[in-house]
Amino acid sequence: MIYMDHGATTPVDDKVLEAMLPYFKENFGNPSSVYQLGAASKNAIEKARRQAAALIGAKTNEVFFTSGGTESDNWAIRGALWMKKEKGCHVITSKIEHHAVLHTLDRLQEEGLCEVTYVPVDHAGRINPEDVKKVIRKDTVLITVMLANNEVGTIEPIKEIAALAHENDIIMHTDAVQAVGHIPVNVTELGVDMLSASGHKLSGPKGVGFLYSRENLPLRSFLQGGPQEKNRRAGTENVPGIVGFGAACEFAADRMAEDIEKETGMRDHMIARLTSEIPGCTLSGDPTDRLPGNVHVCIPGILGEMMLIRLDMKGICASAGSACTSGSLEPSHVLAAMGKTAEESSGALRLTIGRENTMEEADTVCDEVAAAALAMGL
Ligand code: PLP
Repeated sequence: MIYMDHGATTPVDDKVLEAMLPYFKENFGNPSSVYQLGAASKNAIEKARRQAAALIGAKTNEVFFTSGGTESDNWAIRGALWMKKEKGCHVITSKIEHHAVLHTLDRLQEEGLCEVTYVPVDHAGRINPEDVKKVIRKDTVLITVMLANNEVGTIEPIKEIAALAHENDIIMHTDAVQAVGHIPVNVTELGVDMLSASGHKLSGPKGVGFLYSRENLPLRSFLQGGPQEKNRRAGTENVPGIVGFGAACEFAADRMAEDIEKETGMRDHMIARLTSEIPGCTLSGDPTDRLPGNVHVCIPGILGEMMLIRLDMKGICASAGSACTSGSLEPSHVLAAMGKTAEESSGALRLTIGRENTMEEADTVCDEVAAAALAMGL
């Protein structure tokens, strides 16, 4: 099997699994219990918090563990609206956010709790900060824009957008689920107030994430219950998951430079091959400001779903869009926002490289994609 769908999820690293295992059996204590078994779990969570905070240049008291990127996004948005309720309820976001952001905002609008302005993107999926500036209002309380897009891999100008937010007393949140662990992310340099991350995108386990919330931001609990996470996130902690996520953060930091170099080389090699060998095949997203492991192409005249089936028959795991949109025949909202035609969009193929992939695998995948396109009539 060749796994090239790391944007959907990543295999758990051996070292991560090793770090997690004791917390299922020997160290199974509840972190809230006072005896030593409980304290061992609590200490393990605090270690993971230091590892996670170090990866994004945050203080340990600014990191709150959650059940994943989706919960972090929901919490950040609802939390920001509550914190700024005296100022207003206008939110600015982009048209290419993950559904964890877009559907949360849909629901809040339905509930009459916010008004949303969606900023457009250009053909490469890039947001122009000037477009954000134009739609800022007196009652704008939150700007939520992703750091890197999950489909086409484009990296957004968050620093510039965050500066605009702060000039206007607006909370800045970024969904950095695809970026954390893959490119350098520093919350101070970016100037964000809140940032979402998820374990399973960086060789950690599924079902665990964190929300960074800047110190002194009066973010209140999203789930009601016990006093865990300093009263900010109720519920007995997912200790093995948090330990694994912490370990994944540390390993990602240690290996980042090496991973970026290797993945970028493979990415550019695959993009060059696919766009030159397959008639009509074009790259989607920004050619340089993109995630190191993201190859996204549109092959007009083929059906993305058919391509995936053919690749699967050859043992290759790939995606037609994000994990959430693949499997549905809905055209991608990201590609539509970038101005792609329905034909281009239906021939979308996303190959996301991970650290365990090799150049030989990259070549095999390019050969198989080209052969499948040929078999489908190109
Ligand atoms: N945000 C982005 C950009 C994502 O790519 C994903 C997952 O694909 C999420 C949020 C949701 O994260 P999780 O799967 O941890 O809930």
